[in-house]
Amino acid sequence: MIDADRPPLAKSHPHAQAGLMNFIEGTRAVTEDELRANSITRYQVTKFYRKHITNSGYYDQLKHIVEPSAKEFEGRGDLDTSGEHDNTVVPGLQHKYAQTGLLLVTDRCASYCRFCFRKRLVGKDSDEIAPNYSRIAEYISLHPEMTNVLLSGGDPFVLSSFKLEEIVDHLLPISHLNSIRFGTKMIAFAPKRFEDPSLAALFRRIIESGKVAAIVTHFDHIGEISVDAERSIRSLRSLGVQFFNQSVLLAKINDDAKILAETFAKCHQIGVRPYYLFQGRPVRGASHFQVPLRRGVEISRGINQRLNGIQKTFKYIMSHYTGKIEILDLGAEARVYMRYHQNRYPEKIGTIFSRPYVEGACWLDDLPEQ
Ligand code: SF4
Repeated sequence: MIDADRPPLAKSHPHAQAGLMNFIEGTRAVTEDELRANSITRYQVTKFYRKHITNSGYYDQLKHIVEPSAKEFEGRGDLDTSGEHDNTVVPGLQHKYAQTGLLLVTDRCASYCRFCFRKRLVGKDSDEIAPNYSRIAEYISLHPEMTNVLLSGGDPFVLSSFKLEEIVDHLLPISHLNSIRFGTKMIAFAPKRFEDPSLAALFRRIIESGKVAAIVTHFDHIGEISVDAERSIRSLRSLGVQFFNQSVLLAKINDDAKILAETFAKCHQIGVRPYYLFQGRPVRGASHFQVPLRRGVEISRGINQRLNGIQKTFKYIMSHYTGKIEILDLGAEARVYMRYHQNRYPEKIGTIFSRPYVEGACWLDDLPEQ
């Protein structure tokens, strides 16, 4: 059970008829229709996270992760920017890149991030969540090119360890799966969840079956990495669980090379390997978090200038409908250089291409083709 703060609506959204809602910019009246029409994400923050960020010395930055902003009512952007619907092969399973299966195991999180690119489903009762793991296992068994699966959502660790065991029971017998990954921000929001001995048993089972057990954390800022999170990570690493981190580049939160370099250095120090720094997506109601590509390239360079050789493990990535695109540079001739890191068509992986830069552009679609 997650110990979460009450929503800032007089009557708790999404069931409220109308009420006063607290935004970073101030309090205003909102109706249920307005919230629904604008896909406003449910408000929920764990008590642990609220207390932690309040005392972190970075509250003015970190509050934007979980506190609603009136800017969420701006209609720009889409709700499915990466084509997740189009890549769904069995309900709850996406197969976009040959080697990787992505399972949506829940639509719930411990706290809700205002920039979430899955805001179309988080905090709601979504029909995109896997209803039948036998069908999913059957599909994976018939696809030997799929060597790893990522359990995502929502946050898999809001599920009980018993439920996670049930899911893993379907995956362990598939011999061509060599790793099982869990994507989570729970380690920032409620790190004590990872002290549950039944989770340790689950990870032991995965490792003893010969598969890699990996946790992909989601720390966006050094101020989110608590002593409790460090302790949980250390304990799970001692079992053989591998840790990686992905961050999103976010205006007002971490659009600062020094902060991100400190975040990635800290991750390395605690045995968590940074692997993606995501360009913010043009998500409806969250586009205000996007950082222009020119600034993103400067920040990426600034991070690399501050890290030593073994700490430079991250790639600056745009997770686009067409594939995962590494953003390499903005040349003197004002072209953005990019390379496909992942693509549905293997021959495109590794290919470098460029587009003219338009001042303020934040996404591939903002750049003209020639
Ligand atoms: S924890 Fe992850 S899935 Fe949940 S709201 Fe935050 S970014 Fe979205």
